[in-house]
Amino acid sequence: MSRAIWFLIKVAIIVAAAIWLVEHPGSVSVNWQGYVVETSFTMAVIIGLVALGVAALLYRLYRAVRGAPTRVRRYSRTRRRERGYKALTQGMVAVAAGDPSTARKMARRADGLLNEPPLTMLLSAQAAQLQGDDQAAKQYFTAMLDRPDTAFLGLRGLLTQAIRSGDRVEALQLARRAQAIQPNTPWLLSTLYDLEARSGDWAAAEGTLQQAMHAKAIPAAEGRHHRAALLLERSFEAERRGRADSALSHAQAAHDLVPGFVPAAVRVARLLIAAGRTKPATKALERAWRETPHPDLSDVYRDLVPGEAPLTRVKRFERLLNVAPNHVEGHLALARASLDAQLWGEARAHLNKALELRPSRRAYQLLAELERSEHKNDEAATAWIAKAASAEPDPAWTCTACGAATHVWSGLCPHCGSFDSLTWKAPAPAVALTLPEQPRVLGGLPDLSPGTPAASPSPAG
Ligand SMILES: [Zn+2]
Repeated sequence: MSRAIWFLIKVAIIVAAAIWLVEHPGSVSVNWQGYVVETSFTMAVIIGLVALGVAALLYRLYRAVRGAPTRVRRYSRTRRRERGYKALTQGMVAVAAGDPSTARKMARRADGLLNEPPLTMLLSAQAAQLQGDDQAAKQYFTAMLDRPDTAFLGLRGLLTQAIRSGDRVEALQLARRAQAIQPNTPWLLSTLYDLEARSGDWAAAEGTLQQAMHAKAIPAAEGRHHRAALLLERSFEAERRGRADSALSHAQAAHDLVPGFVPAAVRVARLLIAAGRTKPATKALERAWRETPHPDLSDVYRDLVPGEAPLTRVKRFERLLNVAPNHVEGHLALARASLDAQLWGEARAHLNKALELRPSRRAYQLLAELERSEHKNDEAATAWIAKAASAEPDPAWTCTACGAATHVWSGLCPHCGSFDSLTWKAPAPAVALTLPEQPRVLGGLPDLSPGTPAASPSPAG
């Protein structure tokens, strides 16, 4: 609408100018070197305007010819970038699809077309990894360390490689270098914590764990459990260095952090008993028993009062059933104490109750002992032992990472070295499973998730 108005205004101005010229006639005379040109003023104005128009056209033509090479260069550069990014995209798709030859081809093409080392180097490294060429991948990752903008990516690649090859010392060093560049990256913090804990650097692991929890890389409850396990290991370390007070304070801190964490309660109670402090030791054991009735706790509970009469001990053990009523471990603990006090009837009643709650090898073994002690009946004892052999295995400290079971808790799994991965549960039945050969389609997918290079162990019971 406004364009039409403008057009009308322009036409009106031109018409007005033409009318004005016609109404004000005149002549123009040019006399130059003997040449005389005479014309009307209107014609002179028209000639002047045409000359101006021609000059403007010539100038535009000159600009166009002069700028052509730059424009051609710019166009070809744009085309080159477009082709480079296309190759990069195709390479990434090939990596995701697990097609190593296309990935490598596209990586080379993108490298030739683009001046984007962070992207093309990463693609080249991933393509090499996909082809199983770890050496080439390592070269690309190492080359990435030279540039500030790619150093972190390079370290991440090298770290993943080191973890996969089991080189913990190298992995720890790389993780620390990466952390210096980006201190608050969640996956890096949880990886660094895991590496420090596995290498037994408890104090450093504790610091990193705090940071990892702050960055939400490790959930709060899980982190608290890890911290209790770290404090417990620091307690053992302090004892080895002859620092009894530190040993106790670390153990106490672990117990306060997670009262139901059996190894911490056992540890703090044992240290307190050794210091002659029976009362706080009893309190720690009962506090843990309330949350997690456990045979390791009842073992220490037995040693609370040295030289105690067996009958008095039975009375004392009844507290455990009050603290956690009707629990299988309470009945088993009382059956054990009753057997020691030769209270056969009580022992049998508790064992029957325990079997009612959960049949277990320990209950059958105690029944065999009862038959032998009370009736001197070896035949009946043998029958109970046979029953024990075919019963479900009793719980043990079982590693959530590798499945190995052990009777004694330790911070590091004795089988796979994972930290705080032992939980109190029945081990999986030892059945040799013969798995069919992995189909290529499922098995051939690459591991492209350096985001979680190390599995974070889950809390133990
Ligand atoms: Zn393990």
